[in-house]
Amino acid sequence: SREVHLAARPSGEPVPEDFALVEAEVPDPGPGQVLIRNDWFSVDPYMRGRMNDVKSYTPPFALNAPMDGGAVGTVVASEAPELPVGSTVRHFQGWREYAVLDAVSAEPIDTGIAPAQAYLGRLGMTGLTAYAGLKEVAPVREGDTVFVSGAAGAVGTAAARIARHLGAARVVGSAGGPEKTRRLVEEFGYDAAIDYRKGGLTAALREAAPDGVDVYFDNVGGDHLRAALFALNQGGRVALCGAISMYNATEPVPGPDNLALAIGKRLTLRGFIVADHGHLAGEYARLAAGWLADGSLPREETVVDGIENAVDAFIGLLNGANTGKMLVRLGQG
Ligand code: NDP
Repeated sequence: SREVHLAARPSGEPVPEDFALVEAEVPDPGPGQVLIRNDWFSVDPYMRGRMNDVKSYTPPFALNAPMDGGAVGTVVASEAPELPVGSTVRHFQGWREYAVLDAVSAEPIDTGIAPAQAYLGRLGMTGLTAYAGLKEVAPVREGDTVFVSGAAGAVGTAAARIARHLGAARVVGSAGGPEKTRRLVEEFGYDAAIDYRKGGLTAALREAAPDGVDVYFDNVGGDHLRAALFALNQGGRVALCGAISMYNATEPVPGPDNLALAIGKRLTLRGFIVADHGHLAGEYARLAAGWLADGSLPREETVVDGIENAVDAFIGLLNGANTGKMLVRLGQG
């Protein structure tokens, strides 16, 4: 069985040499345990933070040990009657081909609702992040204009559809490059799209949201947050979800120079971590299952095959190689 280790802490942008693909023994499951063959695992932007040796809301990855993260797989040996061989489960031992886990740490998933990998995307952490942000953190109200940055990604493509379900009248997105911006409007349900690589974000946002922005779902930070502060209407709400424009920074990044606009506009800017919104998981799972079934929350995934390509998938994710959820598929998936 192969697994991906963190071999060195990246400085700035991660490079392949920061990682190692390592052959490991597969132990037999002990009492109460299962052996899982991973079929899919997730690569996510927050993992970049865990590669630094700093305390955050998740502990840093250890050096020369397998990294972890979301995964779905098939039970291939079981010492736990509640999870028989053949069960499909979601768990947190990604970045490896096989995992031995206590059965309590593996959650059975219903592949009758959606294929297994959807439980890492639309029915997983990124879907719930979009829902929590727009339902609770920066609530969308009927008729709102919503602006989403990182609009073509896993959270972003979910946010556009969910904003609409929550009553948004206009949804504007920003992403990198003409191809992605075209797809934002033609495929991902946005009313208008901004190619942030062209520059001139503030003017572009004014044009895309002529009546201003009521809710900003921030995946990017930096210039995007600055442009949103100019565009936000009185009483506007901001869900501070991520700041991917800064994840590879080697020095502290200054905040937006127009933050004081928040005072006169009576803005609410709220940071959040999806793990604190677990109380919404049941409600969201029911809604998302319905929306998947009726086509109003279509899945969008970018699939990279083989654990030997997982590091490229992760580095690619940070550089915009994906639309929707970036996934690594192992074997047949
Ligand atoms: P994405 O699928 O959005 O992938 C990352 C995307 O970021 C890339 O596709 C790329 O798209 C974009 N990007 C990279 N560099 C930049 C840059 N300098 N400026 C603008 N965009 C950039 O990832 P996720 O959907 O999983 O995550 C989106 C955000 O949500 C991240 O910031 C992540 O950390 C955050 N997050 C936060 C959670 C929470 O609990 N608070 C939970 C989950 C995610 P492009 O080609 O358009 O540049």
